[in-house]
Amino acid sequence: MISASIENDAQIVWKNCLKVIRENISEQSFRTWFEPIIPYKLSGQKLVIQVPSQFFYEWLEDNYVQLLRKALDFSLGRDGQLEYSIVVDSGDKGNNKPPISLGAPNKPAPQKQQYQQEKPTTVNSPFVLRGLDNAQSESFLNRSYVFDNFIEGDCNRLARAASYAVAEKPSVTSFNPLMIYGGVGLGKTHLVQAIGNHIKANTADKFVLYVSSEKFTSQFINAIRNNSLQDFMAFYMQVDVLILDDVQFLSGKEKTQETFFHIFNHLHQSGKQIVMTSDRPPRDLEGMEDRLLSRFKWGLTADLQSPDLETRIAIIHKKTHDEGVEIDFEVIEYLAHCIDSNVRELEGVMISLIAQSSLTQRTIDLELAKRTLNHIVTESEKEVNIDSIVQVVTEHYQVRIADLKSKSRLRSIVIPRQVAMYLAKELTNLSLKAIGYNFGGRDHSTVIHAIQTVNDLMDTNTEMRDTVKKLLTQFKK
Ligand code: ADP
Ligand code: MG
Repeated sequence: MISASIENDAQIVWKNCLKVIRENISEQSFRTWFEPIIPYKLSGQKLVIQVPSQFFYEWLEDNYVQLLRKALDFSLGRDGQLEYSIVVDSGDKGNNKPPISLGAPNKPAPQKQQYQQEKPTTVNSPFVLRGLDNAQSESFLNRSYVFDNFIEGDCNRLARAASYAVAEKPSVTSFNPLMIYGGVGLGKTHLVQAIGNHIKANTADKFVLYVSSEKFTSQFINAIRNNSLQDFMAFYMQVDVLILDDVQFLSGKEKTQETFFHIFNHLHQSGKQIVMTSDRPPRDLEGMEDRLLSRFKWGLTADLQSPDLETRIAIIHKKTHDEGVEIDFEVIEYLAHCIDSNVRELEGVMISLIAQSSLTQRTIDLELAKRTLNHIVTESEKEVNIDSIVQVVTEHYQVRIADLKSKSRLRSIVIPRQVAMYLAKELTNLSLKAIGYNFGGRDHSTVIHAIQTVNDLMDTNTEMRDTVKKLLTQFKK
C-alpha cells in the first residue's frame, strides 16, 4: 500500500503536467492518451505513471516524448524523471518488460515497477463446441485488404496504429472493443479486414470472423424463424475475434441489438477481441440502446478522416504502381486535387483511367485524366426530374416514396416533402401547379408555402442549409 500523502504528491505533480499537455494537443488526443493515465507515485524527483498497455507506452514515447519532457520541466524542473508502469495485460503474463523511464541522462536505472491488473474471470460457454475447427472455419475475409496496402496519413494514423496493435495482440491491448468510425469509402472495412487477415496469418488456431451488421441481422432473423436461436448464439460465442462491420445498421433493431449485447458481453468477458466499425461516432448512433453504447466506450474509438492531399497522392501512387502502371506526377496531382471526398471514389476513377488507357492503347496523360474525370463526374449525377428528386430526398431522409406523396402531416414526412418541392422548383421548369400535383395533388399555395418554409429554415438552420446544398449537388446542372 502506498501512503495517501505520497499518492497526493504524485497527483499534484501529474495535474501540473496535464496543464501543460492540455494546452498543446487536441481534446481528442488528450482524452485518448492522457486521461487514462494514473499518477502512481512520486519518489524524490521521479514520477511514476501507470499506463494501460505496452502499446500505449510506445505511442506516448513515439508521439509525445517532447511534450512530456516539457510538462515535467514545468512540474518538477529539469531533474524531473518519468517512469512508466505498464499494467500487465491478461494474455501477457510472465512476459515482464524492462522498466521504462524518461529522465535526465546518467541517472541510475529506476526500479522496475509492474502491477498486475486483475484478470477478467473467464465465463465458460454453456454451449458445446461442436467439432468446430478454428483454423478451417470460414472467416469471410477479403485477402486483398491488408496493412501493407493501407496507406497511412494524418487522416488515419491513430485508427491504423490501434488496428495494428489489435492485430498483433488480439484481446491483449486495452483496445477492446476497438471501434473504427468514419464516412463512406474512407477505409473502415479495409482496416478491420486487415486486422482479421493479420491475425489469421500469424495464429492458426484463432477463429476470426468478419460479418457485416446487415448479414448478422438477417442471420438473426432467420434463426428466430427457424427456431435455431441457440445455435446462432452458440456459434458467435465461439468466435475468438469478432469483426462486426457497420454497426449503425443495428440502429432501431432492438432484438438484434439485444442478442448482440449478450454475445458481446460473453466474448468480452472471455477475453475475446471485438472490432466494430460505424459510419458515425457512437454518441450519434441513434436508436442504439444505452447499455450497448456504454459497452462501446470500454475500448478505444478512433476515427478515419477524409484523406488529405498528401495521402491522396500516396494512395494513387501506390495503386497505380501495384497495377503496373506508371503515370506522371502531374497527372497524379491533378487527380488528387479533383477527387477529395473519399478513397473509394479515387479508386473508381483510377480503375476507369487504367481501363481507358489499355483499351485505347494510350498512355495516361493529363488530357486522358481530364476526360475520364469529366465523364465519371457527370455519370454519377442524376437527370433532373420529379422521380429522381423524390428518390434523392427519400434516400436522404429514409422515408418511403408513398409517404412523400401522401397526406401525412407528420413532421418527419412534412419536412422531406417540403424539401422535395423546393428542389423541384429550383431544378426543374415545372409550374407550381405541376409540382403540387406530383406531391399528392396539392395546390399551388401549398407549394409556395413549402418553398418559403425551406428558405426560412435555410436562413436559420445550418443543418438544413447543408442538407439542401448536398442534395442539389447530386443533380446534373
Ligand atoms: P468504408 O468501409 O469506410 O466505406 P472501404 O474500406 O471499403 O471504406 O474503402 C474503400 C476503398 O478504398 C477500398 O478499396 C480500400 O482498399 C480503399 N482505401 C481506403 N482507405 C485506404 C488507404 N488509407 N490506403 C489504401 N486504400 C484505401
Ligand atoms: Mg465498409
